[in-house]
Amino acid sequence: MFIKCDDLKPFDHKVYLASPTMHGEELKYMTEAFDTNWMSTVGKNIDEVERIAAEKVGVKYAVGLCNCTSALHLCCKFAGERLYGKPTIGHGALEGKRVFCSDMTFDATLNPVVYEGGIPVFIDTEEESWNMDPVALEKAFELYPDVKLVVCAELYGFPGRIDLIKEICEKQGALLIEDAAEAMGATLNGKQCGSFGDYAAISYNGNKIITGSAGGCLLTKDLEVANKARKWSTQARENAPWYQHEEVGYNYRMSNVIAGVIRGQYNYLEEHIEQKRVIYYRYAEGLKGLPVKMNPITDGTEPNYWLSCLIIDKDYMCKQVRDDSKALYVKEKGKTCPTEILEAIATLNAEGRPIWKPMHMQPMYRMHECVGRDGTIRCRTNAYIAGGVKDVGADIFERGCCLPSDNKMTAEEQDKIIETIKRCFD
Ligand SMILES: *Cc1c(COP(=O)(O)O)cnc(C)c1O
Repeated sequence: MFIKCDDLKPFDHKVYLASPTMHGEELKYMTEAFDTNWMSTVGKNIDEVERIAAEKVGVKYAVGLCNCTSALHLCCKFAGERLYGKPTIGHGALEGKRVFCSDMTFDATLNPVVYEGGIPVFIDTEEESWNMDPVALEKAFELYPDVKLVVCAELYGFPGRIDLIKEICEKQGALLIEDAAEAMGATLNGKQCGSFGDYAAISYNGNKIITGSAGGCLLTKDLEVANKARKWSTQARENAPWYQHEEVGYNYRMSNVIAGVIRGQYNYLEEHIEQKRVIYYRYAEGLKGLPVKMNPITDGTEPNYWLSCLIIDKDYMCKQVRDDSKALYVKEKGKTCPTEILEAIATLNAEGRPIWKPMHMQPMYRMHECVGRDGTIRCRTNAYIAGGVKDVGADIFERGCCLPSDNKMTAEEQDKIIETIKRCFD
């Protein structure tokens, strides 16, 4: 492949990181809701989404909610009440309790822990999988044997060792909430993401692998949990002729219009995964020979390839400094950094993104602990290297970035992005 300099003009349309792709059936189901006046949080589309979602993941029940964050919130309520009993009014179900959480993830993974009064303790990332490190989790249980809840996300659709995480939880008598928002359709040892947790959540947000513009599902094996999630998500009405309430409720139910979009999209989940797979391997092939690696695929996993990412080898990183809002770098010959690559991609009118900034590096969690695989507790102030042992999340954040992974990107557009990345190493 040879691309001349002047061929790297900016695209005349933006190439997104990941954007919605509609096909047609979505409109049919939405229109059905409209034509039959089921413009509500009840209706056939919701029933169908719940049936399909449960069937695809291989769990008994799915409950349609307005997004994945609300699904995770209800997961936290279920776990908290099961572990610690029903809280009194004014208190969260996880009030004052430590909860082990993924560190390198979107903050929506653990915001609901905080909604319920829980105290996130972060678990460092495993270098080999970019997901929660099972070794670090075991160390964390040695430090805090009383912890009874783990919230774990599968990053970018590339599952790590969620099976081991589940085993560790079982050994410790702890519950597992699985945030499979990014990993719909991905598998580990033939088992679907979303089927490992005691409670799990998936997302139909606009940039996910399939979308309803919004929406999410709570997944469970337990009929009682499913029924209660439906009740809690519709303001927790008791069975009485009037509005009778025994517990706090939420307005979290999925809309039947949005469910129509999701119902239509499910027919294309496999197709979208295949498109994203092709994109991942085109990057892998095109970037061969450069001192970079793609985000890892670990043994036994079949990712959904939601986002293609790269990480620059240490020796080829130029100097890069990030404070709480800006990034600077010093160009060096033959070296680059995520900041330069992201700027170059943006100049091409394409959208990349830094890796999720680890939670233990976030100002709001500056006083929270993060446990590494050596069992040390580190915090934001000693990022990158703590006691001679690597802070894996900080390191991947420093050297990695997400590449444009939109399934409507053409091969030619992707080749230009690849060429642009290559030139960053000039
Ligand atoms: C997108 C995402 C969520 C939140 O999903 P919403 O449906 O937007 O609430 C939660 N966790 C992770 C890891 C995500 O990527």
